[in-house]
Parts: sequence; structure tokens; C-alpha cells
Amino acid sequence: MTPNETRAALEQLALQPSKALGQNFLADRNIAYLIVDAAGLHDDDTVLEIGPGLGALTELLLELARRVVAVEKDGRLFEFLRERFGRRQKLQLVHADALEFDFAPVAPFKVVANLPYSVATPLLQRLVDSPARPRRMVLTVQREVADRLTAQPRSKDYGALTLYTQLYYEVRREHIISPRCFIPPPAVESAVVSLRLAPHPLLEPALEAPFKELVRAGFGQRRKMLRGVLPKLATGVTVNAGRLEAALKRLDLLPTARGEELSLAQWLLLTRELVAPAAEPK
Ligand code: SAM
Repeated sequence: MTPNETRAALEQLALQPSKALGQNFLADRNIAYLIVDAAGLHDDDTVLEIGPGLGALTELLLELARRVVAVEKDGRLFEFLRERFGRRQKLQLVHADALEFDFAPVAPFKVVANLPYSVATPLLQRLVDSPARPRRMVLTVQREVADRLTAQPRSKDYGALTLYTQLYYEVRREHIISPRCFIPPPAVESAVVSLRLAPHPLLEPALEAPFKELVRAGFGQRRKMLRGVLPKLATGVTVNAGRLEAALKRLDLLPTARGEELSLAQWLLLTRELVAPAAEPK
């Protein structure tokens, strides 16, 4: 949609964009094409769009995909979209909160969305944790969230969100988007990230929960050494100091290592070392 079309739609609806619902509408057709293009859609794809808003992306998705499921929380926008696209057979409009919507019946699907910034991280987490994990996602998020998703070890943005996401997805930053491309402009820059489901799981399912628990503990107090935080874990993973030190040694890490120094591959190895049954004493 052009800026004029976007303003006209907002006027027609007498809609004061809601900050709580992250309502910054994309008003730049070229950017809309770039976003949709990054999803590499085929005519047999089902696409889930979260927060279709006025339909800036929806109109392009409908040209390319076999089926579009668009979940909008705001009733006024839901009605607007019903009027705008109501006759399109391939569109399933849903008036719901995407934080509660059950994605499973839509699978297999891809996701294309300009996420409401107010809930971008929990929505992303929900998609990543879903048993019906999408095989491809192209998401516009605050630049700061994109930085966390693509962060490298030892950087300030590297943390649990980076590792939880990269456990399943290869993440790439595709574009930076200026606030001027939205009406109203958000306070910060945005970025488009693409997430591609890894072709093979990096960890056996039984180790996923311990991995997440170790990572959460490792970054809970990020300035602390792993030997100060991991042995205090309460559940499934038994981390005694001697075993941790031996595991760090086998990974060529110093006993003083902190969580932010370990790459994803090292976190995976550390999980295996700590969760595998300890060797029986001879
Ligand atoms: N896709 C449109 C675009 O690109 O212009 C709108 C994007 S706007 C950043 C976010 C949209 O998500 C708004 O339409 C807002 O009403 C909707 N939204 C906010 N929270 C939501 C939620 N929990 N579930 C579904 N939609 C939500």
C-alpha cells in the first residue's frame, strides 16, 4: 500500500493506531515486495500472517501462495480486511490473539509477518517452540530483536533468545527498514529477518529441555562464571563442580568460562557432556 492509501484507510476507519497493539502500518510497496520475496513462496505454500493490519503484505501474499491464514487481534481491522478481501477464497481471516491461536491445524506452513513490536519476542518464541514449527519465517522486528537473533558469542546481544532460536533455525538479517516506511513511524529502526528450519535437528529431543535449562542458567547472571551458576540447577541436569570442570576441559574452555563465551556448538556439546550418564567408577 502507498502512504496515501494507508492514510485514507486509517481515516475511513477513524483509527488511532494503538501503541499497545504495535500498530505501525507498512506504507512502502517496495519494502513489502522485499519482505514477501525473502520468503521464496510457491503456489503450493500455506502462509500464516500474524497481524495483517490493513493488508499491506496480505495483498502480495494472496498473489503468490495457495492459502493465506491471517490472524488479526483488532476487531476494527478484522472487519476492514473482511470487506477488502472478503471474496478471496484462498484467504482465511481469523479474529484472534496470535499469542493464543493454535497453529497446529495450519501446518505445514510458512510465516510472513510484520510483527507487532509489543509482543514480537513472545510470538517468535511461541512459533519456535510449537510442535508445528514453520519451515520458513520472514519477520519484521525491532532492529534490537534482530541483533539478538543473529548475535555472535561474546557480544552484548548474544543470549538465551539467540541460542533457543538457533537450536532450530538458521537466522539471517535480510534488510534494515527505516521508521519512515511506516505510518505512524515507530521510535526505532526495524529489520527483516529470515529463519530457515535446520534440515536436521541439532539435538536429540530428550536433550532439548536440559539444553534450555543450562542456557537459561548460563545467561541468568551473565557476568558470572558457569562454575558459579550451573551447579545450582535444581532439576534433570546434575551438574557437580568436578563434572563441569572436566566437561569444560574437554571443550578446550577455561574453568573460568562464562555462558556468553560459548558458541551454539559448544553449548550443545556441553549439554551432551553434562547430561550423558557419568561413567561408572571402575
Ligand atoms: N501487517 C501490517 C503491515 O505490515 O502494515 C500491520 C503490521 S503492525 C506492525 C502489527 C499488526 O498486528 C497490527 O495490525 C495489530 O493490530 C496486530 N496485532 C497486535 N497484537 C496482535 C496479536 N497478539 N495477535 C494478532 N495480531 C496482533
